[in-house]
Amino acid sequence: MTELRLILGDQLNPHHSWFDTCSPNVIYVMLELRAETAYVLHHAQKIIAIFAAMRAFAAELKEKGHRVRYVRLSEGSNRGALEDNLNALIAHYHAVRVMWQEPDEWRLDAQLQAWAKTATIETTCVSSEHFFSSREQVSAFFASRKSWRMEYFYREMRRQHGVLLTPEGEPEGGKWNFDAENRKRWSGEPPAPDDSRICHDRSALWEEIQRCGVRTFGEPQANTFRWPVDRAEAKARLDAFISHVLPQFGNWQDAMHTEEPFLFHSLISFALNTKMLNPREVVAAAEQAWRSGDAPLPAVEGFIRQILGWREYVRGIYWSQMPGYRELNALEQHTPLPEWFWTGKTQMRCLAHAIGQSLTEAYAHHIQRLMIIGNFSLLGGLSPQAVHEWYLGVYIDAFEWVELPNTLGMSQFGDGGLLASKPYVSSASYIHKMSNYCQGCRYQHNQRTGEVACPFNALYWDFFLRNQARLGHNPRLGIVFKQLADMKDEERQAIAERAEYIRLNLNEL
Ligand code: FAD
Ligand code: SF4
Repeated sequence: MTELRLILGDQLNPHHSWFDTCSPNVIYVMLELRAETAYVLHHAQKIIAIFAAMRAFAAELKEKGHRVRYVRLSEGSNRGALEDNLNALIAHYHAVRVMWQEPDEWRLDAQLQAWAKTATIETTCVSSEHFFSSREQVSAFFASRKSWRMEYFYREMRRQHGVLLTPEGEPEGGKWNFDAENRKRWSGEPPAPDDSRICHDRSALWEEIQRCGVRTFGEPQANTFRWPVDRAEAKARLDAFISHVLPQFGNWQDAMHTEEPFLFHSLISFALNTKMLNPREVVAAAEQAWRSGDAPLPAVEGFIRQILGWREYVRGIYWSQMPGYRELNALEQHTPLPEWFWTGKTQMRCLAHAIGQSLTEAYAHHIQRLMIIGNFSLLGGLSPQAVHEWYLGVYIDAFEWVELPNTLGMSQFGDGGLLASKPYVSSASYIHKMSNYCQGCRYQHNQRTGEVACPFNALYWDFFLRNQARLGHNPRLGIVFKQLADMKDEERQAIAERAEYIRLNLNEL
């Protein structure tokens, strides 16, 4: 009476109730699938990290006495496709039932449901026991509300899960959100923490991946590999962050610096998204740090909001809007990515750094993703689908359920404002204020037009000129449109010409 239980590559949750007991009749199935390496072009570190973490998880299960059938990419019996592998394993083990945990990606969910309809044995899908909310909770919460603003959902989650609340049920510190206190520029003090992530040699795995012909981009850094790939490493990363970095998280959450790719960020997103860490333990550890006086409330609230608020909220948006969401293009932008997205070689220093760092580290922090790369993409008229595929490939933590709403919705306004109340765009002044990128850049951050004027400036104003009909009624953009109206015709004309030139010569910037 053998039962197969499929574990997907981002379902490495050692505390799932499946593993509470060992049974000789249960075989855990883990598959390295060719299709999963190829649905977009992935960063080398992402492929290494996922396979390394899957292998470590399988080894841990075996150590605990569970039966595991792990099929490597290079194995002769690997049939390539998920369905073919499952059918072969059912036949081999004479299985009577197949179970899986609910996938987070729509693509895999649809694939497994379609396969289940053809299967001749019983199939069951169970919860992944990871998130605070169900797939449907966000859409149910907003069903009777006019707009889908994260803040309201976040407050509801705080109440529902008793996070950072007084005994009377009020928010600790007298307010729900300390974001206004979390926007400082960082100029070297306090020193950014060392990269304390454990370092391993993963070159054997990387060679195996290459031998199998997997196409990737970005630097593998295989012999000094630093992403956590098992529960112990993930927990060590979380503990180090909570003890040494969290107190500074808030102040410099939005800051950027050429010498410090990570600043005071946690680097836990890969461990969280592969479920090696549970969001409940992360939120509890951060709250405890505040309650024991080890971290200030604005830092802790800001950090918790990202996990209990944003992470759950974007997942709910994803499940309420898929599959159509991926194709949305409210601003009708169609330009392909400039070549330097794949090399980092542009004279715009902010983009050279943010993209260069993404290629070497498979990581950029939130503001680099949103206000440098995403900002330029939106202003430059790039196709949101092309931008989405790049983000889905390049970042170590990129899984579609979290990447797509962030990229297409928050960053590219592709959904026309479901997720963001206005487009996240800025001119060079914001980048100059929040980073040291503009120092030494070929372009002048304080010029709008002319050959050395920062491209962000003309593109910024031209973006609103081009989208006046779509965005002119947005009350949050009243000041911008007033400033545009106050400009002389010649100035608007010069901006439009400079922006047109930039858009036609993106590869030369
Ligand atoms: P920290 O800054 O230390 O934040 C702590 C945690 O909060 C993160 O690990 C993450 O789990 C969560 N978090 C923070 N912001 C968000 C958010 N907006 N949505 C969901 N969770 C959030 N995050 C991903 O996990 N995968 C993605 O593919 C992804 N793509 C993004 C694309 C764009 C265009 C933007 C603007 C943001 C994206 N984010 C994504 C959100 C955020 O940038 C990353 O979660 C964060 O940079 C990961 O680094 P960290 O662990 O050091 O995070
Ligand atoms: Fe980026 Fe413009 Fe500053 Fe150069 S001047 S770093 S292009 S914002």
